[in-house]
Amino acid sequence: MTDELDPHLQDTYAEVLRRNPGELEFHQAVREVLGSLGPVVGRHPEYTDAGILTRLCEPERQIVFRVPWVDDAGRVQINRGFRVEFNSALGPYKGGLRFHPTVLAGTVKFLGFEQIFKNALTGLPIGGGKGGSDFDPKGRTPGEVMRFCQSFMTELYRHIGEHTDVPAGDIGVGGREIGYLFGQYKRITNRYESGVLTGKGVTWGGSQVRPEATGYGLVHFAEQVLAHRGTSFDGRRVVVSGSGNVAIHAIAKVHQLGGTVVACSDSGGFVVDEAGIDLALLRDVKEQRRASLAAYAEERGLDYRTGSVWSVPATIALPCATQNELDAADARLLADRGCLLVAEGANMPCTPEAVDVLREAGVAFGPGKAANAGGVATSALEMQQNASRDSWSFEHTEARLAEIMRGIHERCLTTADAYGTPGDYVAGANIAGFIQVADAMLALGV
Ligand code: GLU
Repeated sequence: MTDELDPHLQDTYAEVLRRNPGELEFHQAVREVLGSLGPVVGRHPEYTDAGILTRLCEPERQIVFRVPWVDDAGRVQINRGFRVEFNSALGPYKGGLRFHPTVLAGTVKFLGFEQIFKNALTGLPIGGGKGGSDFDPKGRTPGEVMRFCQSFMTELYRHIGEHTDVPAGDIGVGGREIGYLFGQYKRITNRYESGVLTGKGVTWGGSQVRPEATGYGLVHFAEQVLAHRGTSFDGRRVVVSGSGNVAIHAIAKVHQLGGTVVACSDSGGFVVDEAGIDLALLRDVKEQRRASLAAYAEERGLDYRTGSVWSVPATIALPCATQNELDAADARLLADRGCLLVAEGANMPCTPEAVDVLREAGVAFGPGKAANAGGVATSALEMQQNASRDSWSFEHTEARLAEIMRGIHERCLTTADAYGTPGDYVAGANIAGFIQVADAMLALGV
């Protein structure tokens, strides 16, 4: 990942650095994709001739807006809202909204860029976009969150639509926030346009399995990687970082498959529960009480530890928290202790140096673009149900999700083989996603 860039791609990267000063996460995401594309541009000069690389790195549209709202004490608060409509060659822009105090323009750009390739890999007709705000929902009352969401949508509504741009959740945006956002969209436009947002509640246009989809999909993908190496989750010791929506459903699926998740984390620390994470308690603490993992630790008589959750030995590691949470030292420790697989539930949780360490040590690595695509894939299934005014059963929807994840795994391997990097999921995901979008861009003209 940190290898020298193909000379054809150096100009593209230099242009990205020049146009987006200081946006380190965006640079990292672009560099990571370009790092895989050397063999592609060598074989297909038509992409370079049509300027596809440079066009892909420049968002089609970027919206930045003020979000004023009134807190419970009657004070006016101002946040900043973003929507980056990155690429619509394959379908309406699609991607989540992240509400977190660290969100800047560069964060949304990095996530939107990743989303283009991830969405293409699902094989479903969705373009790439992302949005969010530096609003911190932590410690805010439900009334404050509602007023913030309403103000956010009061600007966003004019830019989105079921055929234009379809937001969903991400960190800090779950079913509750999607409800407030959808309510405001409906109020302003007087349209029950279900397909404008995904992640809705099942009784008002949402899809079964959408809340579970990213975590379940991650484990379905990891299961395929393990099967390819002649093994499975059964009896395996697993560590998951995070304790939000992705982590919770990943833990549930690992347990269904006979593995044991012995540790998980939140922004303040981590817990090690050798008996296996008690999912009912974790969900109560995180989803009902919206409390710290310290409450979980206390009720189970465990320590709430500080430091890195990756210090806990694991045969399978599933980073499901946030970007750049697993560094080279963590990767080295995991590899030295016999880790077989790292699969990314979050977006870009492993640093480029960590990926290098895993690769050199022969640890299988499933990049987020492939491994966590189950969430957005199920969002696309929600759009299908909305378009046909239908609603599918849990079983049918999960079977579709599993089939999509098998398809992504297969495409990664076939593409990696075809481009001379057998077994490399990073190259497979980047190249397969890229070619699908690049061909559509060529077909649609400049
Ligand atoms: N935020 C999720 C992701 O990173 C899901 C996006 C969506 O469902 O549109 O892929």
